[in-house]
Amino acid sequence: MQDTYTHSIDQAEDFAKSAMNRIKAESLPCTPYLYELFYNYYSGNNPEVVRSIDIMVSQNFDLNLDRCLELYNRLLNTNHSKEALERAEIIFDETISNVDNMVDDFKNSNHGFSGSINNISSDIAKAVSPDELRNLLGTVISETQKMVSENHVLETKLERSSETMTELKKEMEAVKEEAYTDSLTGIGNRKKFDLEIVRLVGEARENKKPLSMIFIDIDHFKSFNDAYGHQIGDQVLRLVAKTFQESLKGRDFSCRYGGEEFVILLPETDQDGGAKIANILRESIKNKEIKNRHTGETLTRVTISAGVAQTIQDEEITDWVSRADQALYQAKKKGRDCVVVAAQSK
Ligand code: GH3
Ligand code: MG
Ligand code: MG
Repeated sequence: MQDTYTHSIDQAEDFAKSAMNRIKAESLPCTPYLYELFYNYYSGNNPEVVRSIDIMVSQNFDLNLDRCLELYNRLLNTNHSKEALERAEIIFDETISNVDNMVDDFKNSNHGFSGSINNISSDIAKAVSPDELRNLLGTVISETQKMVSENHVLETKLERSSETMTELKKEMEAVKEEAYTDSLTGIGNRKKFDLEIVRLVGEARENKKPLSMIFIDIDHFKSFNDAYGHQIGDQVLRLVAKTFQESLKGRDFSCRYGGEEFVILLPETDQDGGAKIANILRESIKNKEIKNRHTGETLTRVTISAGVAQTIQDEEITDWVSRADQALYQAKKKGRDCVVVAAQSK
């Protein structure tokens, strides 16, 4: 495992003390999970933890056990995937060993059967009376029946193993899916983006087709959170992601890049098409009425700014992303709630 904690002993001691003091000050139970959460907070190791706790504090949310555990599970706990993988590994090993045993059983019973048949065939050559022949035939039938029933048992065991492997495959797919999904919005996460961008760039180059990217950032989202609270902010992030999912089609890919930033990849789309789609999304978010689910109160509408960039031949992916990011920056500078298309050169 790659260790992301790279602080000196003295720094680590300070973070540890601050974490313990905070746990005491908030009257929380001293568990390893909460320690890890606050250690991450004070060391700044996980920016999402820092941001989320700061937002909660600024909104006067009580840092109670439920909220802390929700943060821990959402931002730090990768154990459920690990546990699922460990469990899968055990089932996998057991199944392999079961199948090995079955193959051995099959070889042994086959060997036994062919031995008996060999013996019977030499006895048949020597047999003289019909009674002797009848007895030998009886032995052939009973040996064959034994073989058939042993084969039947093996077949059932093999079927069971095959079912177990199919279930295991499904579980592994679910674990993989979870690792590539943003837990808040349910769309792809940054990890998924890193995979998709490489795949789609490869495809676009091979097919000599255009490929565009929209880099999106919610406007003044900090003020929105400050006004309505972190949880309503989260509701908006889900709404934005849902709007993207509903508006895009086919092979278009949307993901949460981080915080209140989203990226959309549009295969077979040039920058003009990309700008058109970005404007449709911008309008549709702007027109969404946002309500506080608990009070029914209608809230300020949110707007988004977007930067659009089309890949240039042989351009490095990082340069393409940074052109889209620059275009987004220009959109913010222009006053937000607008779309800017990146220049076709660096
Ligand atoms: P700008 O128009 O320049 O983008 O302003 P902004 O306030 O959106 O940008 P800034 O980078 O200053 O703040 C981003 C804010 O996004 C900070 C934080 O309140 C909010 N945010 C980031 N991640 C989350 C999240 O997971 N949930 C919630 N509710 N808010 C988040
Ligand atoms: Mg931002
Ligand atoms: Mg923003």
